[in-house]
Amino acid sequence: MPDDGYIDTVDEVVAALEQDPILVQQIAGNGHTDEVIAWLREHTEDLDFTVYVALTGDLKDLPESGASDELARLLHARLDEPGVYVVSAGGLPTVVTYDVELEALDVKMEASRAKNEAMEADRHSGLAPTGEAALLVRAAAPDTIGPGDHAALRQEPGMALVRQDRDVDFLWQPPDPWPLSATPIIAGLVVWAVAMVLLRPVADRIVPGLGPARRRDAARTDARQAEATALQEAQSEARTATRRLSKALRTAADAETELLARATLSRDLAEELGDSDDLLEVIGADMLATTATRHLAGRTDWRPCFFDPRHGRANTKAMIANLTVPACSRCAGQVSEGKEPEGLLVPRGQRGAGTSYWKQASVWSRTGYGALADDFADQVAAQRRNGGRR
Ligand SMILES: [Zn+2]
Repeated sequence: MPDDGYIDTVDEVVAALEQDPILVQQIAGNGHTDEVIAWLREHTEDLDFTVYVALTGDLKDLPESGASDELARLLHARLDEPGVYVVSAGGLPTVVTYDVELEALDVKMEASRAKNEAMEADRHSGLAPTGEAALLVRAAAPDTIGPGDHAALRQEPGMALVRQDRDVDFLWQPPDPWPLSATPIIAGLVVWAVAMVLLRPVADRIVPGLGPARRRDAARTDARQAEATALQEAQSEARTATRRLSKALRTAADAETELLARATLSRDLAEELGDSDDLLEVIGADMLATTATRHLAGRTDWRPCFFDPRHGRANTKAMIANLTVPACSRCAGQVSEGKEPEGLLVPRGQRGAGTSYWKQASVWSRTGYGALADDFADQVAAQRRNGGRR
């Protein structure tokens, strides 16, 4: 730390981080520097990897544009340590990861999702850069607070303190009955999810659970039982659908080659996934088999409801963000009322538990279980070959 305590060069940031991985300059602290530092420390100390946080004002030896990205790069080069780097040099923070089992993209996705959830509940407050950094840090340590506990997160003193005064509008859009469609970040995520249909390889990543999860078992028994029931029902549906497809395949010798090949692949995958204990995979098995059976029967335009393939055929469309997706009439109705449809949720124990499956990066969200992709089976097969569960 320089004599006057004010850091304005990269050298000084490096020196500070060598002493302490958390650096929040007064200027970035939004009047609550000590509380912000305490919050960050508490949420980073028990992790399996180091989280470096450097939130500074403008540094005089960095370019004006892309300063945070450049600082992150330089910090890693200079410190030469594996870890997660959450870095801001006078603007919104960025995150990069080096040599840890965590992808920066996943952290950003999770933070965006959490922000959207927080904003939905309290839509007139913006987040200070420190708040953005807090979300990134928390997203890098998803088990420190149970997924879906964002209401609790918002109550935490640290979060309350890092929320910025209400007229900061770097995030805000005009009020909308359904914040999902008004929040550019989520719009971006949906577009991103769809783009992945075209640009497959990038998003196939799973982040293993890190650190001990704090569960609140007692209050969640009912939910767990409901989930177990849903899993059993899905497994039963998947078995039935797979048998139906096998039967259809036996009498479909004259179907065109490509259709047959895809149906055979779908059956193989359905057999493989149908007994999984991951509900999302079991539903995948069901939808692979169901879709292939329908296609073999000549109904090649069959699509499931994007919001929850268990709803069956999409007989209409819905607009979310700037994207049109196939939907059942019930979900489409909910969308037109400005609500997020009650669809398939990520099961507990998984990253993003309790949120709509399509907000999580996975082969299921990219394809919408076939709602968004004609080559659903091929994408699932590619995913399996890559060894990723999702
Ligand atoms: Zn639906």
